[in-house]
Amino acid sequence: MDFLCEINSKLKKMKEKNNEKLRNIKLKLIEKKKSIIAQLQKFSKKDKNIKDEYQTNFPHLGDHQDENAVEVSDYTSQLSVEHDLESELRNIEGALKKTSANTYGVCSACGEKINPKRLEVMPEATLCVKCSEMKK
Ligand SMILES: [Zn+2]
Repeated sequence: MDFLCEINSKLKKMKEKNNEKLRNIKLKLIEKKKSIIAQLQKFSKKDKNIKDEYQTNFPHLGDHQDENAVEVSDYTSQLSVEHDLESELRNIEGALKKTSANTYGVCSACGEKINPKRLEVMPEATLCVKCSEMKK
């Protein structure tokens, strides 16, 4: 095999490996998305007017004061859970878009590469550590 041929086949292999990695990430993200949607659907119904927006069902208030208090506090904690799940869902959508656009692993804000270790723990991360710290 001549030199150029060897390099080309090495490059091809590298590319295939990368594609495989990306495919795995995509699958991971889709699985995560599914489980979040399932969690959201448990206590909220999808808002038809807004895409990717869920509304927590407001509890049906009965005659018993004690029960109402519990239901309302449940509702409040559900709202915050819903908010967290929604923002995670948005991140996942963003990361999925990036895998299609071949910009996965690149920070949306500064364009720097996101630390692979960070992506391993948080495959939906679209910002590098620095930018996500600044956002807080
Ligand atoms: Zn950044």
